[in-house]
Amino acid sequence: MLAQRTIRNKVTASGIGLHSGKKVNLVLHPADPDTGVVFRRTDGDKVVEIPALLNFVGNTTLSTTLENDGYEISTIEHLLSALAGTGVDNCIIECDGPEIPIMDGSSTQFVFLIQAAGIVEQSAVKKFIYVTKSVQVKRGDAVARIKPYDGFRVTFTLEFDHPVYKKYPQSASIDFSQTSFIREVSRARTFGLMSDLKNLKSNNLALGANLENAIGIGEKDIENEGGLRFSDEFVKHKILDAIGDLYLLGHNLIGEFYGFKTGHALNNELLKKIESENAYKIIEIDEIKDAPINYLKPISEEFA
Ligand SMILES: [Zn+2]
Repeated sequence: MLAQRTIRNKVTASGIGLHSGKKVNLVLHPADPDTGVVFRRTDGDKVVEIPALLNFVGNTTLSTTLENDGYEISTIEHLLSALAGTGVDNCIIECDGPEIPIMDGSSTQFVFLIQAAGIVEQSAVKKFIYVTKSVQVKRGDAVARIKPYDGFRVTFTLEFDHPVYKKYPQSASIDFSQTSFIREVSRARTFGLMSDLKNLKSNNLALGANLENAIGIGEKDIENEGGLRFSDEFVKHKILDAIGDLYLLGHNLIGEFYGFKTGHALNNELLKKIESENAYKIIEIDEIKDAPINYLKPISEEFA
């Protein structure tokens, strides 16, 4: 059988929140089978747990925020993407602030943390969201769509009317049976126009943003000294975000996602429609050889 996964050891990290600019500490803990991904705020009068599930989604303006019992946790998508991409089903994420640290603006440091902790298989069968019919949502000309597919494929197209964006590929497609999340997606950083950043900062947002944790786009070129990590880094980051958002369905997905100019808000509307239209079933996979998706090998196999 294909088993559920958690991390072997607890691991810690710290960094600054993109919006607050304040330091936050993270602890990733192993969790029992069927726990799912659960955030735990430890800085309030009481400890509050917030499951990484659609029902707990609050604001989706600039990032995806989860809420429970009057507590929030925001900018969760890059960490969720790392957990989804490494196939980790169960993990408790302790955080002493309202925002997951931005790290380098991608998922790569979270993937590194998960690898450092080690991935182990558990005694329960892994569950998948198996898409059974096409569902689509639109907002203006933006589209987010899901359809049945024997694997996990994410395709995204951007369209920004800006000379710098136009220099780089605006479309990309990732098929998890052929490509590696770690190599192709996890290193893609978040990005934004330097001109927007001023506005955001004057509204007390993106206070922690700098060229160490985001790609800054100037009028004529990218302002980061090292340039891009790969030519389609912008669109790959949108794929990274979509993978994180899709994980709010609670399990790894078997199906195909297509996004055109979509973001967290529209992705979330898609998830609600997938739920309300019952466009999936939960499945288990008996034989590992039948699995349509390959994840990072668990520790037991690495040392086998
Ligand atoms: Zn992002």
